[in-house]
Amino acid sequence: MGFDTKTLWITLAISNLVFGALMLVYAGQGGSRGTLRSWASAQVFKGLAIALILVKPAIPHPWGFSGNLLYLAGHALELAAFLAYAGQGRRIRAAGLVFAGLAAAYLAGIAAGAAANVLAVLFSSSLFVLYGLSAMALWSSRRRRSPVQVLLVVSNGLIALTALARIGLAWSSPAWDPQSAALANQAMFLLGYVFSLCDGFSFLLLVKEDADRSLLRMATIDQLTGIPNRAHFLDLAEDRRRLCLRSGQAVSVVMMDVDYFKRVNDEFGHSAGDEVLRRVGCALREHLRDVDVFGRLGGEEFAIVLPGTSLAAAVPVADRLRAILAGLEVETAKGTTRITVSMGIADLGGGRSLELAMSEADGRLYRAKAAGRNKVVAVSETIPDKAGASDRAAL
Ligand code: GH3
Ligand code: MG
Ligand code: MG
Repeated sequence: MGFDTKTLWITLAISNLVFGALMLVYAGQGGSRGTLRSWASAQVFKGLAIALILVKPAIPHPWGFSGNLLYLAGHALELAAFLAYAGQGRRIRAAGLVFAGLAAAYLAGIAAGAAANVLAVLFSSSLFVLYGLSAMALWSSRRRRSPVQVLLVVSNGLIALTALARIGLAWSSPAWDPQSAALANQAMFLLGYVFSLCDGFSFLLLVKEDADRSLLRMATIDQLTGIPNRAHFLDLAEDRRRLCLRSGQAVSVVMMDVDYFKRVNDEFGHSAGDEVLRRVGCALREHLRDVDVFGRLGGEEFAIVLPGTSLAAAVPVADRLRAILAGLEVETAKGTTRITVSMGIADLGGGRSLELAMSEADGRLYRAKAAGRNKVVAVSETIPDKAGASDRAAL
């Protein structure tokens, strides 16, 4: 194996510069891409630093070491980007202090006229610390760990180990030339190069994974209540319907609407209305089973699918929920408000379509409204509120 070390360095400088510049253009398009911007700037820093290191012999002492310092600064910036990504922004200041300490030790070595191999030990030790901290920052991310994230942790850990090997080499050989064409030096450079590529692409993929996740969330989850939106509910409901049909299980659908909700907005303000809707979403999440699906259809309308539950069995389930919601007290700036809901239930089993069952349940919901609200209607039966038993006659 015989690589021209200088050519390898030039390739690494160019790829860092091009990669970083492209990412800066992309990240500069706006939005919340601050993390990507710091990471891309770090790549540009590193590219420029390598270019400076390449022309080091032509730069008068001690300015020739500016490339090495810029390289460390690039890594510190990359660590800051990883910390921000991992939700550990408050640790960025500490990372800055670590960088300042490492740079100070390196500068002290230069000022003291330390031998080349000692400076190489100081430089590689700084890289070891920065890469090690990057691996730890990424590992401690509060997000769900994805395979790409694990790859990024591993590649940073491996680059840290490469730096460690460089420390060993430089320490044990006083005549060691950091840019020599020695086999061990070239092998280490190549490994570092491969890991850098891996590092770069993994981080980009990680940022993309994040963007995909938030897009998916925006497309499926209602922002106000945090429960499935209409389209997602319809998908989930159709899944449950088919599953129940295949297994011969009963299944019911409930349509629910908050009573006189406009009054809540009018009397207590729109934000109080929003809070009521959030509390309704929480109640659905809290009081329904894991197998049940529910969603906000829009405005103050919600729907629930109860798998394994016949129409008759769905009535007490819906009525329990109605009673829970009627007991809810929502604190607002203008005092405490309470709400009631009306519900209509229909059978979703036996091959009936979701559309048909939902429209049947909707019809029953409006009968519940017409009968005085705060009621559950299934077929021709009304389950009245304890305080309003006379409403049964209205149906
Ligand atoms: P009913 O008992 O007949 O259902 O009467 P209602 O007042 O609940 O029904 P109506 O359709 O007259 O009013 C619904 C109100 O819901 C009107 C609309 O401004 C309000 N609304 C819809 N979406 C939201 C929202 O996201 N937040 C808030 N605060 N209000 C909303
Ligand atoms: Mg309403
Ligand atoms: Mg409505």
